[in-house]
Amino acid sequence: MSTPSTSPTTAAFPGGTILGYPRIGRRRELKKAVESFWAGRTDAVDLEVTAGGLRRETARRLVELGLNPDDGSVPGSFSYYDQVLDVVALLGAVPERFRDLLDEEDGSLELDGYFTVARGRGEDAPLEMTKWFDTNYHYLVPEISETTPVSFADHRIVREYAEALEAGVTTRPVLVGPVTFLALSKAADEAGDGFHPLDRLDDVVAAYAELLRALAAVGVPWVQLDEPALVTDSLDVPAERLHDAVRSAYRVLATGLAKATDDTDGERPAILVTAPFGGLGDDGLALLAGTDVDAVAIDLVKGATPAGPLPGLEGKTLVAGVIDGHNVWRADLTAKLDAVESLRGLGAGALAVGTSTSLLHVPHDVEDEVFGDGPGTTLDPRLRDWLAFADQKVGEVATLARALAVGRDAVADALAASSAAVASRATAAGVVVPEVRERAAALTDADFARGPYAERAAAQAARLNLPPLPTTTIGSFPQTPEIRKARAAWTKGELPDADYSAAMRAEIERVVALQEELGLDVLVHGEPERNDMVQYFAEQLDGFAVTANGWVQSYGSRCVRPPILWGDVRRSAPITVEWSAYTASLTEKPVKGMLTGPVTILAWSFVRDDQPLGDTANQVGLALRDEIADLEAAGIGIVQVDEPALRELLPLRRADQEEYLRWSVGSFRLATSGVAPATQVHTHLCYSEFGEVIGAIDGLDADVTSVEAARSRMEIVPELADAGYSRGIGPGVYDIHSPRVPSSEEVTELLTLAVKAIDPALVWVNPDCGLKTRRYAEVEPALAHLVAAAREVRATL
Ligand code: GLN
Ligand code: ZN
Repeated sequence: MSTPSTSPTTAAFPGGTILGYPRIGRRRELKKAVESFWAGRTDAVDLEVTAGGLRRETARRLVELGLNPDDGSVPGSFSYYDQVLDVVALLGAVPERFRDLLDEEDGSLELDGYFTVARGRGEDAPLEMTKWFDTNYHYLVPEISETTPVSFADHRIVREYAEALEAGVTTRPVLVGPVTFLALSKAADEAGDGFHPLDRLDDVVAAYAELLRALAAVGVPWVQLDEPALVTDSLDVPAERLHDAVRSAYRVLATGLAKATDDTDGERPAILVTAPFGGLGDDGLALLAGTDVDAVAIDLVKGATPAGPLPGLEGKTLVAGVIDGHNVWRADLTAKLDAVESLRGLGAGALAVGTSTSLLHVPHDVEDEVFGDGPGTTLDPRLRDWLAFADQKVGEVATLARALAVGRDAVADALAASSAAVASRATAAGVVVPEVRERAAALTDADFARGPYAERAAAQAARLNLPPLPTTTIGSFPQTPEIRKARAAWTKGELPDADYSAAMRAEIERVVALQEELGLDVLVHGEPERNDMVQYFAEQLDGFAVTANGWVQSYGSRCVRPPILWGDVRRSAPITVEWSAYTASLTEKPVKGMLTGPVTILAWSFVRDDQPLGDTANQVGLALRDEIADLEAAGIGIVQVDEPALRELLPLRRADQEEYLRWSVGSFRLATSGVAPATQVHTHLCYSEFGEVIGAIDGLDADVTSVEAARSRMEIVPELADAGYSRGIGPGVYDIHSPRVPSSEEVTELLTLAVKAIDPALVWVNPDCGLKTRRYAEVEPALAHLVAAAREVRATL
């Protein structure tokens, strides 16, 4: 081991920095290139050429927007698919089933193999995917055991640094830090009892040390290691273990390797450790301050200003993450500058301006939008001044950095303009709608509660007259190419309203006829008119905007365009009533109206940052309450309000979870509690690992809750029974995530498990989720088996 580096850090990133930048391309070029590679239309060389072009373009763009090209302020944060998978590739740490993909000599993965681990092949399941902290980005979960290979196998990061340098920009390689990588990994199947991936910390750190040496050897000045695991206490690792891991990892990487400086060769670049997505807490920051890393980035958007002074910070640069990397609003730069300066008391060697998180979670550029009041996807012109996407945020960082370096006077105009924009938003028409505010202010506890369940259940039984184990679906039926074509043509104005409406009605007729033929008990309209379960409602509610190019990576090559919730939410006209009423006119069977719940609408949108989320949720709740009242008035006896994102928004810190569950459950109840006892309220939640939200599910007070349960073989049902849950439950018996058609024996088996675990009178029979991504060739036999199984188990009751 070499001697610890003692050279004091000079101020790093004086021109400001960002923690990462969108990598999919402003016209989704990477998505297209990757998908055409997958389809075999292009080869790996074509893909590398496109990706290299995007990387160079990004580096140049960031310099053009104000970042310094020479000092490592420009992040090199590219990924072909996912940044966690990149570490798997870096280490060659693939699960057993993919070992044949590793190069025999150096243990690395070719691009082809890299995508195979992400997407699976034949019987070999891909790595599991799960949500990245509190974002809508999904990463791949590494599988690690005692025997997983771990080495410095892949040199892509080094090559990408050289590539940018050739284009004239000194980048700062960005990768997930060793502790977070292992904390987010799961134990592979072959791992022994009690094994935790963190048991492999020394091996992983040794590989990172090799990487740092390689980076230092080519003159990389800075490297960024992301350690967001430090901001959450919801992982299955106790805080002490995580903290020990950080101490031990950075003792090796920072203390143990001599830092290269301008004048001396060394074994490692300067190290920036980041902690995005939340507050580190004083102990978390003290922990990082106590290591020999050279800079620490903290999130001041989600996290509180830490108290100081903190020993150890004097030799480091503290990067103040004041520009929100996770939402789209333009900042009041004066307030942000105050926030940066409030860190002076911490005693850091230097302060730098940064983003709170990578900009991966926002779209590229406000200027890519079409402003005006024309039809379709154009934005209200006022939004141009209120919004900041990635490029605008880089500009904000540069302006703040300048103020910090040479004084506020130098950027007085920019500061004033930003304050004026924020102020104009605060009072603009539509942002505050007095009528909406008055209605919310007048709410009382009674608006959040229905009558006793027993009375409701009796009234519903009398009205609906359903058999035991009633069968239904979650709402959507396959979205055929014809439906998509009709919707696209209508959106472009090429298909008249009447023709579009006729096409949708014809589709509804088909879906109703099919459900009757299959013998389902509660029918749906199939949701053919919905592009997306959130966007559809956002397009019709006041207070939302929908972008033309606001794409954000969701996972791999998949991108979403989250709506922007900018103003008070109001429903100016019924949204779904016409479709549901038409459906009901076609059948004698009960029809279920279908809505997306307030929490899910918020979770999958960019939300306003000028009022508590709970207030916004209640506004959406009230709009839905009106919609439900209209459905009820149109004779619809069952309404389902989907909340698949309820668990997604759960705060990363346990201390914040109770308050979240209070308002989220409240907004659902506000939406659904205006109905008569005889109207049955359903909800649907996708995930099957309930743990911390099982109480909330009960709190929703829905008459029937459907959940994903096929893969876990009904695991949730006994858990609910143990928790004393006593209303309707529809544990999914058909895994819709796979094209596989379950046999009726399989469905019978699952159903039997369910009726053994909980009172059969409570059990409903349905698939795991909506059917929109499946094909009719799979859906028809699968639903036929589902109905047959329900009949069979019914006969045994
Ligand atoms: N009703 C929606 C559908 O069937 C629910 C989708 C979801 O839960 N993600 O598609
Ligand atoms: Zn679902």
